[in-house]
Amino acid sequence: MDFAWTSAQQSLWDEIAAFAQKELSADTLVERDHTGTFVEENWQKCAKRGLFALAMPPAYGGSGYDTLTAVHALEALGYGCAENGFTLAVNGQTWSVQMPILRFGNEDQRSRYLPKLIDGTWKGAHAVTEPESGSDAFSLAMTAQKTEGGYLLNGRKILVGMAPLADVILLFATVNAKAGRWGVTAFLVDGDSPGISRGSTTGKLGLRTEPFGDLILNDVFVPEGNRLGREGSGASIFNAAMIYERSFIFTSHLGSMARQLDDTITYATRRKQGGQTIGKYQSVGNRVADMKVRLETARSFLYKAAWMVDQGMDATLQAAMTKLMVSELFVENSLDAIRVHGGRGYLAEAGVERDLRDSVGGVLYAGTSDIQRNLIAALLGL
Ligand SMILES: Cc1cc2nc3c(=O)[nH]c(=O)nc-3n(C[C@H](O)[C@H](O)[C@H](O)COP(=O)(O)OP(=O)(O)OC[C@H]3O[C@@H](n4cnc5c(N)ncnc54)[C@H](O)[C@@H]3O)c2cc1C
Repeated sequence: MDFAWTSAQQSLWDEIAAFAQKELSADTLVERDHTGTFVEENWQKCAKRGLFALAMPPAYGGSGYDTLTAVHALEALGYGCAENGFTLAVNGQTWSVQMPILRFGNEDQRSRYLPKLIDGTWKGAHAVTEPESGSDAFSLAMTAQKTEGGYLLNGRKILVGMAPLADVILLFATVNAKAGRWGVTAFLVDGDSPGISRGSTTGKLGLRTEPFGDLILNDVFVPEGNRLGREGSGASIFNAAMIYERSFIFTSHLGSMARQLDDTITYATRRKQGGQTIGKYQSVGNRVADMKVRLETARSFLYKAAWMVDQGMDATLQAAMTKLMVSELFVENSLDAIRVHGGRGYLAEAGVERDLRDSVGGVLYAGTSDIQRNLIAALLGL
């Protein structure tokens, strides 16, 4: 393993961090976080800057970077852009929509969907969760009934990131409920298909600028050519796609942790109490030291997952460990950042409390921390 960045990789990091700081301004973020406002213009800027292209091959409009380089670049996005809901949406599309299409789509599907997702024409969503199936994802109830030329889909998905805006929905339904996980099948559903209704979920704890909500499908016709993989291969596709989602959907949150640490150090070296800067107090210094150790731990897990994927190794265990570590450590660092900032950290203007609220969702989506532990234990033979 070699984690020494080349000058090209480091320049890419610097350029993307600078782009995010300048172009994805945090000026109105407190207000937008309050109202849950997504900024389309910023999405288009990211598309133009090539952020959806990073991990995609040139044949579909991608930059052709390896996973480690793409991950490093998207970390820079999180460093420069304090809007964790928005950066989650960018990563969600990259890792949970584009990557499964690239890996499991046929040539027709890849060339129909990837260029438009990469250039910002379309947005994507990944929909699996239902009212009665969350952690037990393969017990889903959405049905896909075979009909002439395709399938009729019926059912409801909930808690889906980008659901209100998605043009393309990677969606899982069953072609045979009695077959359990062997009936689960993946589909690429066009967002404007007749029979889809969408509900926006408001009142979220965090990640508020990522639109989020329900998808209700009522006799939605999906052509056979939009089935991803074979009938009944949805569980395998989901599990393979989860290696990417669990490992990398937090990539920009890693950048947030780095920004949060820098801001906390700046604060601790400026704020004076009792005649000295608070950073000189051992308890404050210890907290900052813990934040640094957690950040580097999270980085090591995530970079190793990217390296394993690039080597063609099975990263299932690493992905579960990465997801567990990065999500939980982001929560812990966010809480410590507030402790160091004192009462100011509790107020929206400082942005520190927003990071805490944003971090909590991470221990739930892409499989809760309990589920990651189950997976790790099972992979260890328990
Ligand atoms: C911010 C956010 C974004 C999301 N984005 C998406 C998205 O884009 N697409 C999508 O499809 N879904 C999305 N989800 C949904 C998310 O994947 C589910 O919330 C998650 O999988 C948990 O399912 P659940 O909410 O039904 O909880 P449940 O499965 O009901 O779990 C409730 C509690 O029981 C525990 N539990 C359940 N089963 C077990 C078990 N076998 N062993 C141990 N403990 C268990 C869980 O860990 C949890 O503590 C998102 C959720 C959030 C919060």
